[in-house]
Amino acid sequence: STEFQGKHVTVAGLGVSGVPAAKVLHGLGARVTVVNDGADERARAQAAELEALGVTVRLGDADTLPEGTDLIVTAPGWKPTKPLFTAAAEAGVPVWGDVELAWRLRGENAAPWLAVTGTNGKTTTVRMLASILRAAGLRTAAVGNIGVSLLDAVTGEQEYDVLAVELSSYQLHWAPSLRAHSAAVLNLAPDHLDWHGSMDAYAADKGRVYEGNQVACVYNVADKATEDLVREADVEEGCRAIGFTLGAPAPSQLGVVDGILVDRAFVENRQKNAQELAEVADVNPPAPHNIANALAAAALARAYGVPAAAVRDGLRAFTPDAHRIAHVADVDGVAYVDDSKATNTHAAEASLAAYGSVVWIAGGLAKGATFDELVAGAAGRLRGVVLIGADRALIAEALARHAPEVPVVDLDRTDTGAMLQAVQEARRLARPGDTVLLAPACASMDMFANYNQRGDAFAQAVRELGA
Ligand code: ADP
Repeated sequence: STEFQGKHVTVAGLGVSGVPAAKVLHGLGARVTVVNDGADERARAQAAELEALGVTVRLGDADTLPEGTDLIVTAPGWKPTKPLFTAAAEAGVPVWGDVELAWRLRGENAAPWLAVTGTNGKTTTVRMLASILRAAGLRTAAVGNIGVSLLDAVTGEQEYDVLAVELSSYQLHWAPSLRAHSAAVLNLAPDHLDWHGSMDAYAADKGRVYEGNQVACVYNVADKATEDLVREADVEEGCRAIGFTLGAPAPSQLGVVDGILVDRAFVENRQKNAQELAEVADVNPPAPHNIANALAAAALARAYGVPAAAVRDGLRAFTPDAHRIAHVADVDGVAYVDDSKATNTHAAEASLAAYGSVVWIAGGLAKGATFDELVAGAAGRLRGVVLIGADRALIAEALARHAPEVPVVDLDRTDTGAMLQAVQEARRLARPGDTVLLAPACASMDMFANYNQRGDAFAQAVRELGA
């Protein structure tokens, strides 16, 4: 018998988190009702699967609170303003997200969590961290939006020493009792503000990752907002604030000195005041924002007690996921780089900063973003710009304001074939030594199913150039 025996649990939302949550809770003896807004074919198939197990499913109405609900377990993306949650608050029913559920279900002696959040770089950092932990001989996994799901990691057969956990701001919003061993907030830039309601609310949800940390709160020295969140957090006694910086590190920081990643926070040899970890060249790719990711991963691994050599070995063993600053090909002395995953301005800013002279392919769905800061900062490096997608006028206007001398090709088409033309136009603008960079600063769904498909279309177009 468990604390869930006989409890009425309402699971809000089918899908990647809802279906496994319903199954696990049902297995623990809860009386589970799943509520879902939609009733499309996929939802009906998932419902049938759950109903066969004895789970109740209500399709097409996820607004009213089922009678007798003791607890709601919600899909992380559901907005806090939904009527279901208002009703829950009125009835005093607690709401947990998928992360909270996983946290509560972790067994005794469960593996501690090293958590990573931030506007950009989460997946990369978590995968670097897992690679470092693995190089140290630890049983681990990168969990969250990638690879193993959190719920599987805590309830499955596989045993772990420590978990590298990616957490979104949504997940953190719904995870009130999560307490990580150590956590990092990589950076904070406006994103998903329609969901959180304001920048302050977004930052507060990100800051939750530091609450109750035991050993280290890792922050970005170049992003004061992350340090402010550490200061506001209520942590365990002895937990330290550890900064990472692309410059020379102060005490209690990790940073870079003469092309070497250096740790001045967790120094093993008391005779020395710094520990060399790895070379910048060990980071793949060694772009500035990615070195920052590597330092954050190293800080968390070091907080867990991983030796310096494992940081180096783990970084060397790491290969980035597709569509994240992926070098596609060189054609006529011009490098073609796919950073389709740069779906917001903060990410595109980081990838533009990694190159000297760039022909930039941008555009898509702007999600309410403004482009002035991004364009003004990159203007000096732009050889030319090719614009695609629904909201390209917003970028064109920012270019006209801040970079009037930069040639812009505005492609007035949103069909999938537009990418081939965009690459051809980019080739015309580029000179040997330049980089043609797909870093759209926008979401892809106006033209593509997702950023993967957009990146694939780019790579395919580049291959056609070379042929
Ligand atoms: P996330 O999981 O947070 O979306 P990813 O690791 O998948 O992050 O990287 C997404 C994109 O964000 C990359 O393609 C790159 O353009 C950009 N990026 C990665 N790391 C950083 C960083 N530390 N700062 C700013 N932008 C970054």
